Amino acid sequence: MMDYIIGIDVGTTSTKALIYDTDGNIYGKANKGYPLYQDTPDMAEEDPDEIFNATVSAMQEVVAKANITDGKVIAISWSAQQHSLIALDKDFKPLTRSLTWADNRSQKYAAEYKQNGRGMEMYKRTGLPIHPMGPFYKLLYFKNERPEIFDQAAYWVGIKEYIIWKYTGVLKEEVSMAAATGLLNMNSAQWDEEALKETGLTERQLPELVDTTDKFQGIKSEYAKVIGIDKDVYFVMGATDGALSTIGVGAIQTGVLAINIGTSAAVRTFVDKPRVDPKARLYCYPVMKGKYLVGGPINNGGIVLNWAHDSLFGGEVEAAKLLHIDSYDMLSKIAATVPAGSDGLIFHPYLGGERAPLWDANARGSFFGLNRKHTRAHMIRAVMEGIMYNLYSVTLALKEVTGEPKAVLAAGGFARSTLWTQMMADIFEHNIVIPESYESGSLAAMFLAKMALGLEDNLEDIKKYMGKETVYEPNEDVFKRYRTLMPIYLRLSRDLSKEYEGIAEYQREFSDTDE
Ligand code: ADP
Repeated sequence: MMDYIIGIDVGTTSTKALIYDTDGNIYGKANKGYPLYQDTPDMAEEDPDEIFNATVSAMQEVVAKANITDGKVIAISWSAQQHSLIALDKDFKPLTRSLTWADNRSQKYAAEYKQNGRGMEMYKRTGLPIHPMGPFYKLLYFKNERPEIFDQAAYWVGIKEYIIWKYTGVLKEEVSMAAATGLLNMNSAQWDEEALKETGLTERQLPELVDTTDKFQGIKSEYAKVIGIDKDVYFVMGATDGALSTIGVGAIQTGVLAINIGTSAAVRTFVDKPRVDPKARLYCYPVMKGKYLVGGPINNGGIVLNWAHDSLFGGEVEAAKLLHIDSYDMLSKIAATVPAGSDGLIFHPYLGGERAPLWDANARGSFFGLNRKHTRAHMIRAVMEGIMYNLYSVTLALKEVTGEPKAVLAAGGFARSTLWTQMMADIFEHNIVIPESYESGSLAAMFLAKMALGLEDNLEDIKKYMGKETVYEPNEDVFKRYRTLMPIYLRLSRDLSKEYEGIAEYQREFSDTDE
């Protein structure tokens, strides 16, 4: 008899499910996407039931792939996107779609709170940066601008809570997800009185707060049947995708940095007590007893390389396709023809506004230092370097709060390029450890399930399920160049920040290229 655990990650673009045995071997993976609804430019919503259906079909697929003949699925453990918000009526029917982190309709309230100092006070209580991504600010929008929904809402939940409720009829919220709403007091790990007062909510409208390893049974028969599992399967609450992907790369000890560069990017580390950044550039969320996640979410990760790939090298990309060459590998080869530092060409990657470290939706990108000798090859290298400079600047903010990193672990699509990974070591002047690639969020969800079931008791032991690591060491000849350029990059960031509003305003008014 073999026991299986499903680790499922409800992301913003898709849900990924993996099925493991209790030794961590993978028996099947599935990925199911869903659309984003943008009826107006500042809206970014998803349909909660479409996401629910994606979780059903993803689990159905992995269970089929595992072809279980001699055992059963004992637990389903949950990772999910942060900052989503859904209003439910008294019968738990959605009154809204799920507003994702990217929904911008609460911009006005975040701006107002930033200005009048109230945002800073709330940040110090809850650890949520002052930004429209936060459900705290979205609730202010509903309260002030959508009273017909606000007055009718019996409950306010995130996507993970809704999905688990739909499977089991149990409405609970674990602490890491609750923290990312901006309604949880980070010191007490209870709903924050002030945040409730400001938003006009009562505790009865929010789910019961539980630990990340909370487990319970009660899946409805219809869903157990469709997925192909037994009714006594445990639901394990799990945590946010941010917390789990940090645990899943093995960055568990205080001061070990976990950096992810996929489509977006993030720099995170666990600390043992709440730490706030005096400039509110970083979030701080309780996750487990004595474990607080401090970090910065970054919009402009690999998506900026995708832009350069399509916009600067469209012709070559087409040719590469015909020759069956990976066009991203080709870009790295082109970038490698240019020396480190791109002969003094500096790129600011803020194509989509930026969260950490600027927290400015109006931020825009720029090339600086262009001369006649610069070519597109310089531009592509500068783009790769610029994305790293930005990540490094967030790391500098993190260092101010949490001290020198003990180790830097990095993961995500960027690590497919050895050039880009070496660049990270050179810019960070630090060894960069790349764990063998796997789905870190689902692995950590699976591990939390094992802890919940009493099969593991030490988070550090997740490391035994990880493959081997590759280490990139900084090259002294190279990092000297970056040491010269980095201060220019940082000064430019400050100087340009005054101009972002004007240029974004222009783009909104006169250009149809604005998103
Ligand atoms: P996601 O965050 O959506 O899960 P990934 O972690 O797979 O995605 O990362 C996707 C990003 O990785 C892309 O935006 C792209 O910029 C980058 N990428 C993909 N392939 C390569 C490559 N061969 N070299 C460098 N970067 C790559």
